[in-house]
Amino acid sequence: MPTRDHYDVIIIGSGAGGGTLAWRLAPSGKRILILERGDYVPREKANWSTLAVNVEGRYNTKESWRDSKGNELHPHTNYYVGGNTKFYGAALFRMREADFGELRHHGGLSPAWPISYDDVEPYYTLAEQVYQVHGERGEDPTEPHASGPYPFPAVSHEARIQHLSDDLARLGLRPFHVPLGVMLDETNPRTSKCIRCETCDGHPCLIGAKADAQTCCVDPALAHPNVTLMTNAKVERLETDASGCMIERVIVRRNGAMERYSADIVIVSCGAINSAALLLRSANDRHPHGLANRSGVVGRHYMGHTNSVVMALSKCPNPTIFQKTLAVNDFYFGDDEWPHPMGHISFVGKLDAVTLSAGAPKIAPGWTLELMAKHSLDFWLTSEDLPAPENRVTLDDKGNIVLSYTPNNEEAHRQLIARLKSSLKAIKCIEHGHECHQGLFSRPLFIGQRIPLAGVAHQCGTIRFGADPRTSALDANCRAHEVDNLYVVDASFFPSSSAVNPALTIMANALRVGDHLLQRLGATKEMTHDRLAAPAIA
Ligand SMILES: Cc1cc2nc3c(=O)[nH]c(=O)nc-3n(C[C@H](O)[C@H](O)[C@H](O)COP(=O)(O)OP(=O)(O)OC[C@H]3O[C@@H](n4cnc5c(N)ncnc54)[C@H](O)[C@@H]3O)c2cc1C
Ligand code: SF4
Repeated sequence: MPTRDHYDVIIIGSGAGGGTLAWRLAPSGKRILILERGDYVPREKANWSTLAVNVEGRYNTKESWRDSKGNELHPHTNYYVGGNTKFYGAALFRMREADFGELRHHGGLSPAWPISYDDVEPYYTLAEQVYQVHGERGEDPTEPHASGPYPFPAVSHEARIQHLSDDLARLGLRPFHVPLGVMLDETNPRTSKCIRCETCDGHPCLIGAKADAQTCCVDPALAHPNVTLMTNAKVERLETDASGCMIERVIVRRNGAMERYSADIVIVSCGAINSAALLLRSANDRHPHGLANRSGVVGRHYMGHTNSVVMALSKCPNPTIFQKTLAVNDFYFGDDEWPHPMGHISFVGKLDAVTLSAGAPKIAPGWTLELMAKHSLDFWLTSEDLPAPENRVTLDDKGNIVLSYTPNNEEAHRQLIARLKSSLKAIKCIEHGHECHQGLFSRPLFIGQRIPLAGVAHQCGTIRFGADPRTSALDANCRAHEVDNLYVVDASFFPSSSAVNPALTIMANALRVGDHLLQRLGATKEMTHDRLAAPAIA
């Protein structure tokens, strides 16, 4: 195998975690190599085709995994520069303050994090700046305190969504504007980068106006001459020195050949499932059960959120183009009738008939798919998935991924759906009265792939951090307890999943770990970004 140069830092994976960390470390002048198994998302008209994206799965990996029974699984995940943020809906939420502590759910216990909300707060503020979040503080009844305003005003509701917002507010709920990472300037539509289109959630942005990890972090990091990106570079294994305490070699498959690289610090950020698989694949004599896995937790506690896409049909049409602007958190921690956390209600991008035709939802009597698409409000409901050790990533004898999962905390989700249903039924429309709402219809989440387990968009938890090396693989700085130069900064480190979308927390944590690494690498404050108000390096 050819021997390549030594780097100060190697980052494996360029998504929310790895991409953001690269941005943070780039100005330090340290030699940084980003290894990304995918390529850039091709810029083509199909970026914005619901047929190509939702029905044909054009950008999904063609890799095949297995479930615990050996059934084939086609994961709904994407390998590109920028990772899954190229496809995300850019709803960028902070976890609630209480999510960092221990929370009792109807279905069990959500464990505490080894750090508090206040430890992450400055980095949430920075991440909101880096990812250009548009939002309005003070509207969301459960939102945690923040040291600064959102950098941009909230994305406005279109008429139908504003109408719904007013109706829900009349019922006593507190709907609010979703914090969104889209580069939209509503005061100046002629020059606004984002054109507010209907193919955002789940689609890459053809015109580069989505605040994703490539546009906001990887591209700016590459403007520094000390940062190198290698695409189509899949890391196969990590090898340690004889003591087992340091990663000595990173083994990469690129252009059909194996290459090896080394670095003082190695950051794994392949997404929670692939990162766990990489550590398990890297077992050696010193780490017989997988790298950094003396605790046995690597691969365990897989969480993916309990999510439903629920179409609410009404007699009133819904001509909304950009639908994902409204959310409801009134039931997040429970209500008077059911005092347990239920979760979060928001929207997916507007569903069209093409998307629905592949999903084959139950068709309402007297409706066609076209009519349903024209009249539906398409909600996205999220309840917390609790960390169960038997929900886990393992490898089969060929080294392929096996994902074992049994859903939990399901009553919380049923209660949340019931709250949405009763709220919509209670709305009295001026034109159609209480008859306006026609009912809820669930849509299979992953069209053409009827295996719910394939929905790994919110994967997290497989390499948890914690204070106790017996029950966690990483310490509070996301450094492996057993391997001094190994860090993990993707969603693997989550000890619990909360019920809000994960990306902003991954980004904020990557910035936090970045500051720890700058200090470890001996970088001074002057070597960090001055464009944004960076928290002081502790
Ligand atoms: C359709 C969709 C919509 C979403 N909407 C939202 C939303 O609105 N809000 C939100 O907060 N979250 C959303 N998410 C989830 C969000 O995108 C993820 O939580 C986030 O991207 C995870 O970040 P990560 O760093 O853990 O992994 P990723 O972003 O997945 O990055 C992992 C990277 O590692 C690379 N990689 C994997 N294995 C290897 C290897 N062996 N060698 C080299 N490279 C490797 C991958 O190619 C990828 O680039 C959505 C996800 C999807 C799919
Ligand atoms: S133009 Fe705006 S709404 Fe459309 S995909 Fe790009 S960021 Fe999303």
